[in-house]
Amino acid sequence: MDNCIFCKIAKKEIPKEFIYEDEDVMVFPDIHPVKPIHLLVVPKKHIVDLLDLDEPLLLEKLHNTLKIVIREKNLSELGYRTVINGGGAQEVPHLHIHLMGPIQPAQTL
Ligand code: AMP
Ligand code: ZN
Repeated sequence: MDNCIFCKIAKKEIPKEFIYEDEDVMVFPDIHPVKPIHLLVVPKKHIVDLLDLDEPLLLEKLHNTLKIVIREKNLSELGYRTVINGGGAQEVPHLHIHLMGPIQPAQTL
């Protein structure tokens, strides 16, 4: 997608330090973090939102990447939250999973 900021990051047209990267998935810090750790887990392919995702292998890859980063950042101890916005709720219309922490049990959305 020509005008998509996450596609530009995937194609390295915009420099970005990745926390994790493979051929299909990239992870980088959110530019406006709402928690001390706030990462975005993003497929490199342009997929708008969950309704647009029809590749089980890519879903599995996103899940595996989440597991790697959750463990690496010790979020399994600190507490974490994942959020996927869709439809009109998205600021960036390229599928991404917010991974945030630390999160305490009593904290509300
Ligand atoms: P959403 O509302 O779920 O689409 O969230 C998009 C997120 O992307 C927001 O939290 C933004 O702060 C973040 N964001 C937008 N542009 C960039 C960028 N260039 N690098 C990192 N994060 C970004
Ligand atoms: Zn895109």
